[in-house]
Amino acid sequence: MAKKNTPKSAPAQLATLALHAGHTPDRDTKSRAVPIYQTSSFTFDNTADAAEIFALKKAGNIYTRLNNPTTAVLEERLVAIDGGVGALATASGMSAIFLAVTNILSAGDHMITSAALYGGTDTLFRFTLKRFGIDVTFIKDFTPANIKKAIRKTTKAIYFETIANPSGDIPDIAPITQLANEQKIPVIVDNTFAPGICRLFDYGVNIAVYSCTKWLGGHGTSIGGAIVDAGNFNWASGRFPEFTTPDESYHGLVFNDIGPAAFIFKARVQGLRDIGPCMSPFNAFQILQGVETLPLRMKAHSENAIKLATYLAKHPKIKSVCYTGLPNHASHKIAQKYLTPGCFGSVFGIEVKGGTKAAEKFIDSVKLASHLANVGDTKTLVIHPSSTTHQQLSDEAKIACGLTPGFIRVSVGLEDIADIIADFDQALK
Ligand code: PLP
Repeated sequence: MAKKNTPKSAPAQLATLALHAGHTPDRDTKSRAVPIYQTSSFTFDNTADAAEIFALKKAGNIYTRLNNPTTAVLEERLVAIDGGVGALATASGMSAIFLAVTNILSAGDHMITSAALYGGTDTLFRFTLKRFGIDVTFIKDFTPANIKKAIRKTTKAIYFETIANPSGDIPDIAPITQLANEQKIPVIVDNTFAPGICRLFDYGVNIAVYSCTKWLGGHGTSIGGAIVDAGNFNWASGRFPEFTTPDESYHGLVFNDIGPAAFIFKARVQGLRDIGPCMSPFNAFQILQGVETLPLRMKAHSENAIKLATYLAKHPKIKSVCYTGLPNHASHKIAQKYLTPGCFGSVFGIEVKGGTKAAEKFIDSVKLASHLANVGDTKTLVIHPSSTTHQQLSDEAKIACGLTPGFIRVSVGLEDIADIIADFDQALK
């Protein structure tokens, strides 16, 4: 695998890590920006060198499906931001979730998830994993007591989103990870909505997954995903024999012998090798451009979101605003416990008076905001999730995600707040 390239005296602050972690100008070109190594493969010095790299006896690049120096910078930067031990960049957020889950679950295994999920994750868990023989229990009221009742001998993961898309629900993370730790079950959390503003590993989470397509990339240009491993789970604790017994597909390698990064190592050399959803080096470069300003953007997104949500909450044409940043949201207090002060993310829901028809009219009337299926862009975005991103969910699952018929999802961008408010105002009129 590729050699680590983190500066020796890596600075500790988020803003600095976001700009520097994982990269120093290389000796040959002295390029300050991270170069795009747009290559499928890497040459070997000789046959002995090739054999050693393949046998994992020596660090080195092989083939971009497995590793790539541009992508490695992004991976190391995410590791530094989250405080983990290893990361794996993937082609999309969905492939990151799929690889993370199937790295530890096989046919006959069970997973527990919060019911408040992004629509694509819901269908992956509800239908596709089922086809693979993996059973998933969905819990609406995601409390330790309810999770405990759902645990089985075969339970191999507990899953939730830090800030759920689009309900904004935030589970009380620490008691959940404490329960999971007692039961020797790893916790996987989708931190897509809170990169850099929620340090999941400080609260005992074991694995973070991301859609880099959203705030990490931040500019709506590139699809990508990532898995970050905290390195804090004991894979030899009993439920995971695949970590302590020789892996037939890797000439008898015992993953647990790798050390704290066993999970992410397995995800790369087994999952990425065999399933193949690697990130393109060009997308890794694009996402790195976003990561460089992540701390600034997360703060500015949140500031605009609070201003817009507060304005809309008093608007005569709005029935309700569902935003974690407002005191009436069920997760407002929990948000203050786990998120960077003043940051609540920048997605919220609004219910326009007049139901679905009024919601459609509003969406068709915005001029500055874009009507599209994404979040976390620098530009303000709106969509009607019930008929689009969460369309495939049953009515019951929609309600579990907080989706009423007139619910509009807003992803607040970085335009001048006066212009965003003016656009919403004219569309509501
Ligand atoms: N996780 C969350 C919370 C999301 O909102 C999304 C997409 O909207 C995904 C995962 C999937 O990410 P991607 O579209 O990059 O596959």
